[in-house]
Amino acid sequence: MSCDGDSVSITAATLPSLEDVVLGNIPGLPKVHLHNKVLHHSLGGEEFLRPFRQALDDELGAPFVLVIEGSIPNENINGEGYWTSFGNDPATGEPLTINWWIDRLAPKAWAVVAAGTCAAYGGIHAMAGNPTGCMGLADYLGWDFRSAGGIPIVNVPGCPVQPDNFMETVTWLLYQAAGLAPMIPLDEQLRPTWLFGKTVHEGCDRAGYYEQGDFALDYNSPKCQVKIGCWGPVVNCNVTKRGWMDGIGGCPNVGGICIGCTMPGFPDKFMPFMDQPPGGTVSSSFTQAYGAMIRRLRSITNRTVNKEPRWRHNRGELTTGYNPRWPR
Ligand code: SF4
Ligand code: SF4
Ligand code: SF4
Repeated sequence: MSCDGDSVSITAATLPSLEDVVLGNIPGLPKVHLHNKVLHHSLGGEEFLRPFRQALDDELGAPFVLVIEGSIPNENINGEGYWTSFGNDPATGEPLTINWWIDRLAPKAWAVVAAGTCAAYGGIHAMAGNPTGCMGLADYLGWDFRSAGGIPIVNVPGCPVQPDNFMETVTWLLYQAAGLAPMIPLDEQLRPTWLFGKTVHEGCDRAGYYEQGDFALDYNSPKCQVKIGCWGPVVNCNVTKRGWMDGIGGCPNVGGICIGCTMPGFPDKFMPFMDQPPGGTVSSSFTQAYGAMIRRLRSITNRTVNKEPRWRHNRGELTTGYNPRWPR
């Protein structure tokens, strides 16, 4: 269950770019062949499906990494139909569900990666009331799943995934496959630790305003947006540091509140969007009281350091405090 947003997002990666990985421009990486329906020249059909069928039959001739985009529906509650399809069964002509493919390919894959929040935790499609019973890959395969390479599911959340976060993760896995990197470090939510260890707030360009209790009251302001719905202080995401594409953008940095799109609790636990987060009312009240005083003191110091020292003048005497050893 996907909008293809993650595939589109990944085409913007630069660290490294998809093209550099596929063209073999990164020293030490194994040769990579990419099979993605959005990026494949045939846009589907048997030619596109061939490597997937070969992987099923152990005829691919090389290890593969299975990347899932979008959430996984519950086909146990599909009634007489099916929620997804990915090619047909050649024998019966019946559609093959994405669950059918995951059941067979995941145990054979050297590594299994969930790209985007839908694949990682269920995301938008799995919000309360979802009729398809959607879930993330770890809820589907089990949180203790291990791939053929002995690796847990690797979650790279984001809606969509930040392109360089995804490519950096895949690059680590490829180096690991080549024996040039240790086991990829993951946190309890199976996210790469070096990408999701900090909060949005810790990297935000507006954090100085927060610390001084200086808050935006509408979306035209360059100040901290916690009072108009930003969840940044409690959300694990690095886009305020890394930007969206090639260092550009990054939600709160450029005026968008953080709605927690990388988080396992997204979207339900962050709704209604644009209301002040509950904890934010308490913390911003404290910061506002202390920040008002700090701002006043800082403005006094700021005026002081905005003036040059008095001894810089063109008068007849030296007033710098210089103490000559010998009289002139
Ligand atoms: Fe689309 Fe977001 Fe889901 Fe990716 S995580 S498939 S971008 S809705
Ligand atoms: Fe923190 Fe959001 Fe304010 Fe940035 S805009 S400083 S992330 S609360
Ligand atoms: Fe999603 Fe918030 Fe990160 Fe923006 S800053 S990408 S809304 S988690």
